Amino acid sequence: MSTTALDCSLVQRLVREALASRLGNGHALSPLAPGGRGVGGEGVASKLVVNVSARHCHVTQEDLERLFGKGHQLTPYKWLYQDGFFAAQEVVTIIGPRHRMIPNLRILGPCRDHSQVELAFTDAILLGLDVPVRKSGDHRDSPGCYLLGPAGMVELSCGVIRHERHVHMGPSDAEYYGVKNGDRLNLRIQSSCSAVLEDLLCRVAPATKLEVHLDTDEGNACDLAHATHYELFK
Ligand SMILES: [Zn+2]
Repeated sequence: MSTTALDCSLVQRLVREALASRLGNGHALSPLAPGGRGVGGEGVASKLVVNVSARHCHVTQEDLERLFGKGHQLTPYKWLYQDGFFAAQEVVTIIGPRHRMIPNLRILGPCRDHSQVELAFTDAILLGLDVPVRKSGDHRDSPGCYLLGPAGMVELSCGVIRHERHVHMGPSDAEYYGVKNGDRLNLRIQSSCSAVLEDLLCRVAPATKLEVHLDTDEGNACDLAHATHYELFK
């Protein structure tokens, strides 16, 4: 092992120890995500993770087979932060009303009961679609589109949405922040373009890790890639 490598690991250990003693607990905290300040119940905050969901779609098994052939199964390409969910190898082309299209729209797995496309507003404008902000599964007043795969095409009559900003959490995090499923929290992001994003929908479910989902427009607007701190608050 070189001297440089030794020095690096020593520095990392010292920084970890210093942080641990200052924070007074054994929880791992990312330097980019020092966790939210408590606003509700007692207890220790989970590490807050803020991720951008780039445009993608969810499909039913039936639509998947229309797009990729009879009996086709999704193949995991990259596992997502939430256990059991993945970006699939399969991608499709989305076609809007005036034949405008975006290729390589990734499918997220596993398959669902309803097919749905989640776009940022910038994507929707490019396609010539006027999409509403909706929570997942709410397709009220949403436009449709065509999806094109190697084995065929699917026409969705509705289900193209801008997915409402939201935060996934388990019951203990919900208690920590003093919220229940369907409540709202605000997210403060410190970066070169600091911003407060209001009214994130709290989606509380068992066995869920604390994670905020923004879309690419929101993430880019507040320069999330270079954020130095973020926190959730009421
Ligand atoms: Zn999400």
